[in-house]
Parts: sequence; C-alpha cells; structure tokens
Amino acid sequence: MKICKECGKEFSTRDDRVKYCSADCRLNHDKKRRAEYLHNSYYPANKEKIIERNRKYYAENKEKVAERQRKYYLKKIWGDED
Ligand SMILES: [Zn+2]
Repeated sequence: MKICKECGKEFSTRDDRVKYCSADCRLNHDKKRRAEYLHNSYYPANKEKIIERNRKYYAENKEKVAERQRKYYLKKIWGDED
C-alpha cells in the first residue's frame, strides 16, 4: 500500500514510481505546484511592477474601470444584460 501524496488516501500500485492514487490527484498536485510557483516566485519578484502597472492602468483607464464596475453592479442588482 502507498499513501497518495495529494489526498493522503491509501492505494495499491505495483509501480513504485506512482505517487498519486488517481489522475485527478496528479492534476491537482500539478495545479497547486503551478499556483505555488506563481505565488512564490513571480509575484514577489514582480510585486512592485505589478502594483505599479495596476495603478497606471487604473489611472489611465479610470472611466473605463468605473464604467465596467458600474455595469457589473447594475448587472448584479438588476440582472441586466449588458
Ligand atoms: Zn489521491
């Protein structure tokens, strides 16, 4: 018996290299690892740039952003289609 690295369930396999009980667990693990990678390396390394970019975008597109937000809220309140 082996323990799935993703969900912690016991499963049986003859292949010693198998670490996950199912394809779903393997995919989940990949997804998590990718998210972690993005979170741990990309964002901190580029935090200032990302914040600055967002600030710039917002400053340059104030009307557009406001309009989009207005529409979004209207849609939420009235269920209006755009
Ligand atoms: Zn699993």
